[in-house]
Amino acid sequence: MRQKLITGRGTSLRAWNASQKLAAVPAISADLLVPPHARAVIVAPHPDDEVLGCGGLMHQLAQLERSLKLISVTDGSASHPGSTLWPVERLSVIRPQESAEALHRLDLPMHSLKWVRGGFTDGNVADQEERLANFIQRHLLPTDVVFTTWAGDGHADHEAVGRACARACAVTGALLHEVPIWAWHWANAEDERLPWERARKVLLDPMTIARKRHAAHAFASQLQGDPLIGLEPILPAGVLERLLQPFEVVFL
Ligand SMILES: [Zn+2]
Repeated sequence: MRQKLITGRGTSLRAWNASQKLAAVPAISADLLVPPHARAVIVAPHPDDEVLGCGGLMHQLAQLERSLKLISVTDGSASHPGSTLWPVERLSVIRPQESAEALHRLDLPMHSLKWVRGGFTDGNVADQEERLANFIQRHLLPTDVVFTTWAGDGHADHEAVGRACARACAVTGALLHEVPIWAWHWANAEDERLPWERARKVLLDPMTIARKRHAAHAFASQLQGDPLIGLEPILPAGVLERLLQPFEVVFL
């Protein structure tokens, strides 16, 4: 979904690669982020956010035999408004299937991954925020480490999910980490609006990046627009490249 901040081509990968602030972000290991015996809970506003934001981290956590829970908040059916090629009914079936395929491509053992689908309305999460916070809360343990979209990500659903997770974590005592996704698009490479001091990089080895790239390509609906109504792909090549860096960033 395109919103105010998410227009045009966004900040290029080349610009991010020249960012001094990004270069200075310290690294953290998956092992340290999610200690032994803790569980990682990934809360994704739309099918694909889990892979684009922390697919590499999920793969590493699975290698460490941490248990994982994925909460898919919406079915992503509002990604192609007005499209007869990608009507809501089709997207609501296909996008969760794309997530399932992507998780498979990330080599996540399905026995260690619990997957919960929230069924909240795509594009309108802010109006359901309190119900969402309660829903997430019911799925959390005090020892969980939650990864979700940053509450300043510049996309209304991503921000609402970030806020709802913060409320649920405050009540349950679970630890919250936020992940930027659309911020890579609207922020400039030295942007003071990003919480750099909270940022940590999870470094990804070439095999993990290759897996993540393969997983990202499972989201065929997002790689295609609808030429009939002049709708560009949600994830054109330039956007995808920016999300396939050799690291993922979390805000602690
Ligand atoms: Zn999203």
